[in-house]
Amino acid sequence: MTSVDLVVIGGGQSGLATAHVAARGGLRPLVLDASAGPGGSWPAYYDSLTLFSPARFSALPGRPFPGDPDRYPVRDEVVDYLAAYTAALDADVRFGARVQQVTFADGGFVVSTTDGGVVRAPSVVAATGGFGTPFRPALPGLESFTGRVLHAAEYRNADGLAGSRVVVVGGGNSAVQIAAELARVATVSITTRGPLRFQRQRILGRDFHWWLARTGLDASRWGPRLVSGTVPVIDDGRYRAAISDGRPDHRPLPQRFDGGRVVWSDGTTEQVDVVVLATGYRPDLPYLAGTGAVDEAGVPLHDGEMSTVLPGLGFVGLERQRSFASATLRGVGRDAEFVLDRVLRRVGRHAAAAR
Ligand code: FAD
Repeated sequence: MTSVDLVVIGGGQSGLATAHVAARGGLRPLVLDASAGPGGSWPAYYDSLTLFSPARFSALPGRPFPGDPDRYPVRDEVVDYLAAYTAALDADVRFGARVQQVTFADGGFVVSTTDGGVVRAPSVVAATGGFGTPFRPALPGLESFTGRVLHAAEYRNADGLAGSRVVVVGGGNSAVQIAAELARVATVSITTRGPLRFQRQRILGRDFHWWLARTGLDASRWGPRLVSGTVPVIDDGRYRAAISDGRPDHRPLPQRFDGGRVVWSDGTTEQVDVVVLATGYRPDLPYLAGTGAVDEAGVPLHDGEMSTVLPGLGFVGLERQRSFASATLRGVGRDAEFVLDRVLRRVGRHAAAAR
């Protein structure tokens, strides 16, 4: 069985930032990623995805995002950036390596992959993302809806949807972006439980992220505790304008779906072709099942950095793990620094004990 100092599970931005900080600290981590190549989930996001943060606030540690720092990079630029980051990394990165199970015994971890590989390590960082499992809420009647139901994770572009009647469920950035894109070729309603919340992209001539960094709110552990609830839609004005033009229109959640029809909150009904669920994601950590490190819902038990159950198990990239920015390109490196600080101490103790 091979032994390494640190296994990083996931080679998306979270795993890469973790591996970079680990290598800088003198470790040679092993990164195991189930995908065929670099980029994490970015290659699978919808075609028109444009970052909500400018390039200067979208970089991982040690490598600036190339090009004009004030532009908003598109999806494929992020994929290219992550591929270049992977190539430059001083770590052993293995693609096509899906971790099946992590076990903890005698103070260390054994990590097994679906292709039969087994690695032992004193420390493991789970960096498979907070967005691995699409969340599909149980909306009344949706299970027997006869039209097409798509999660935002499956949506790529408007191809094949021109002229359709579409209901988008959800009020976050993806919901509004997808609804506005579809509304150019289809009749679209965006439906939410409460009001849509918007955040102006620019305030007093500066991008919103400049203010987040300047005030310290972005990095603050208090941020997620002070401001709870849904994430606002970051908007340069175009989404509010589209919605006030009714393209898409905004309505309360429907009462129910009935066959191929939607029953709106005012009791009116109409035929619908497609329902898009932009209803978020949950963490994807099935390889920790049975270790006690996740609860019955698969949610990890942690103190913002490390597992509160298994010594030596860290997490990077969970939503609101330490701050608002934990699951973003701009914030994940900062969290990786905190996690690695504790991992390095553990690996050091482990090495000293072995001498
Ligand atoms: P992922 O990119 O999901 O990578 C996880 C990796 O783990 C994958 O490569 C996967 O193959 C691998 N993996 C999973 N399970 C296993 C396993 N068992 N064994 C081995 N490997 C495994 N953030 C921003 O900063 N700006 C944005 O504009 C922005 N837009 C977003 C838009 C959408 C639609 C979504 C969903 C998220 C967005 N985010 C954005 C948030 C975040 O930056 C991305 O979700 C990002 O992909 C998260 O990176 P990650 O490395 O944590 O996870």
